[in-house]
Amino acid sequence: MASTYIFGHKSPDTDAINSAIIMAEFERLNGNDSAKAYRLGELNPETQYALDYFKAEAPELLSDDLTDKDVILVDHNEFQQSADSIESANILHVVDHHRIANFHTAAPLYYRAEPLGCTATILYKMFKEKEFEIKPQIAGLMLSAIISDSLLFKSPTCTEQDKAAAQALENLAGVNAQEYGLEMLKAGASTVDKSPVEIINADAKTFEMGDYSVRIGQVNTVDVNEILARQAELEQAITETLSGAEYDIFVLVATDILNSDSTILVLGKDKDKIAKAFDVELDNNTAFLPGVVSRKKQIVPPITAALS
Ligand code: MN
Ligand code: MN
Repeated sequence: MASTYIFGHKSPDTDAINSAIIMAEFERLNGNDSAKAYRLGELNPETQYALDYFKAEAPELLSDDLTDKDVILVDHNEFQQSADSIESANILHVVDHHRIANFHTAAPLYYRAEPLGCTATILYKMFKEKEFEIKPQIAGLMLSAIISDSLLFKSPTCTEQDKAAAQALENLAGVNAQEYGLEMLKAGASTVDKSPVEIINADAKTFEMGDYSVRIGQVNTVDVNEILARQAELEQAITETLSGAEYDIFVLVATDILNSDSTILVLGKDKDKIAKAFDVELDNNTAFLPGVVSRKKQIVPPITAALS
């Protein structure tokens, strides 16, 4: 039987990895024994912490060409965030909570999009609808993804449905969401061991906005000065990335997970337009954005509006 490839986006975050594992479990319970989770990049330390805690195995790194292969996408749909050969794959199903853009298929498919805070919340609902058992490990992976995407329920993307799911999952997984969640976020928030290239590429996504190709990276931290102290080497890495000419603008978002604020570092063509999007001015290429934690809800929409 041909296998079904399940994966989240490139530069995978905890939702992208865990939702692939969870969706593979869903498919198996639904009678598809060939479903297998994959990843499109290295695990970040936060995801590693969650997988270790719940004794789950990391998905295999995808290296196969997907031409004519059956695939299921989770936590993304835009082709530039997906596998390189996605255009020639046979997309069976998408489960996602992002805007729909740069997406098309040749054949009909299942597509489940809900404007919730996390793909794992949608998957939780799918398990409930089918009355599938949610094992403690799967519950832990769902809860970890929700905590990650919602920054412990503080992000404006977090909905009542995400909170309700997390509450139920807390019991199923046998952990205290606040205590476990803070430890998990902290595990992913240290940047001292990371190279500048790792920092700017971790969790970076590319967006087509107006005539611009904008690369937006986000890094969580418990101390934004850890990032700012390395501004010169970060700028050098970003400048090298921009000279590849694939992107016009690079925005690095350093998010303080304890205070729920962000500082952006912006380089590239018309970078002042980025600051204008937030009604601030760049000071030495940086700007403080109080209360901003969500790339999807608070970063991408204003930049898209400013560049379109
Ligand atoms: Mn994601
Ligand atoms: Mn997500």
